[in-house]
Amino acid sequence: MKYHSHIENLDEDGYTQLDFSTRDIHKRPMISDKGSRAPSSPWRPIAVGLGILCFVAVVVAAVLGALGVFSRPCLPNWIMHAKSCYLFSFSGKSWYGSKRHCSQLGAHLLKIDDSKEFEFIESQTSSHHINSFWIGLSRNQSEGPWFWEDGSAFSPNSFQVRNTAPQESLLHNCVWIHGSEVYNQICNTSSYSICEKEL
Ligand code: MG
Repeated sequence: MKYHSHIENLDEDGYTQLDFSTRDIHKRPMISDKGSRAPSSPWRPIAVGLGILCFVAVVVAAVLGALGVFSRPCLPNWIMHAKSCYLFSFSGKSWYGSKRHCSQLGAHLLKIDDSKEFEFIESQTSSHHINSFWIGLSRNQSEGPWFWEDGSAFSPNSFQVRNTAPQESLLHNCVWIHGSEVYNQICNTSSYSICEKEL
């Protein structure tokens, strides 16, 4: 309603007459709840499409992350081959020190399981042919059987352990690889080493 106080509304006594008529009031058109009268934005379908794409991308990333697709199988500086990660350590240590070092990294000194693994190791050590690398093969006594760190017996299928002692030695009870050859050696000798960690 609208209040009118024009001069024409004055009565004979000079008092203003109030006019509560609704003559100037125009009803606004009702807009439906759905806003059907509002012009539809051309960006709406684009925004909805982008939202769906983002949602799908998040779901795909979550699934791939759960499957370990984005995770690195080996730590930095480790080399992945077949089902293991290998660390070629270039710090000189005794065989026992090297064993301890690998253990501290959650690994063990290299165990060569088959000829394919030996070929891979050989390809690596041959590029460092002036250096020797301790592997996880040792024996308790001279001329005794060789054992891997996990207690399994050595089988000379992939390589032979060459003797470096000029004569019978009670000390050459540890094994290193030098280039493509494998030798027994005095365990306290300082050398590089190879750690292995199964995936
Ligand atoms: Mg192995």
